[in-house]
Amino acid sequence: MSDTPQRSCGDCTACCQGWLRAKIFDTDMYPGRACPHITDQGCNCYDERPEVCRNFRCLWLINPEAFPDWMRPDRSKAIANGIIDPNSGVHAIKVVPAGSKLPTRTVNHLKQLSTNHKIPLLMYVRIKENGKFSDKVSVEAYGPPGMQHVFDYIRQQLRQFEYMGPTE
Ligand code: SF4
Ligand code: SF4
Repeated sequence: MSDTPQRSCGDCTACCQGWLRAKIFDTDMYPGRACPHITDQGCNCYDERPEVCRNFRCLWLINPEAFPDWMRPDRSKAIANGIIDPNSGVHAIKVVPAGSKLPTRTVNHLKQLSTNHKIPLLMYVRIKENGKFSDKVSVEAYGPPGMQHVFDYIRQQLRQFEYMGPTE
C-alpha cells in the first residue's frame, strides 16, 4: 500500500490479501492467507509497515495512462507490476490474479497493452488442489515475436516473481 503524486491506493488492499507472496515481519503471506495486519480500516501498522510494503507500487498506481480507474487491482482482480530482463533490458508486465481467476475484460485489456506497446505479458494462473490454492505455479505468456529470450529469463524466475518486490 503506497501513494504516488498521481494516485493513491484509496480503499484498495489487494496487495495485502496474500495474492502476492511476502514475509511480513515474521509471518508468511500467500494465496489463501492474507497479511495479519490488514483490517476493514486498512493496515493496522501503516507507519511501521515493512520495507517491502513501503516500496511496492503496482502499475495501476504509477501508470494511469495504461491502467484506467477500473483496472485498480481490487476492481480488475489483477495486480500488475514491472519486470526487467537484466540481460536485454527489455521490460515485461507481470500479473497475478487478485482472486481465483483474471476476468476476461481484464485479460483483454492487458493483451491490448502488450500488443500496443510490444511488451511481453506474463499472467499467473491459480491452481487449486483439494479446495485450497496450490503451491504450484502456472503462467500464461503473451507477447510480440522475438521475445523468446525474455520469456526464457522469466521462466527461470517464476517463483521469485510471485513475491511482492521492487517494481520498475
Ligand atoms: S494493489 Fe496497488 S493500488 Fe492496491 S493497495 Fe497495492 S499498491 Fe495500492
Ligand atoms: S503490513 Fe500493512 S501494508 Fe504491509 S501487507 Fe500487511 S496490511 Fe498491507
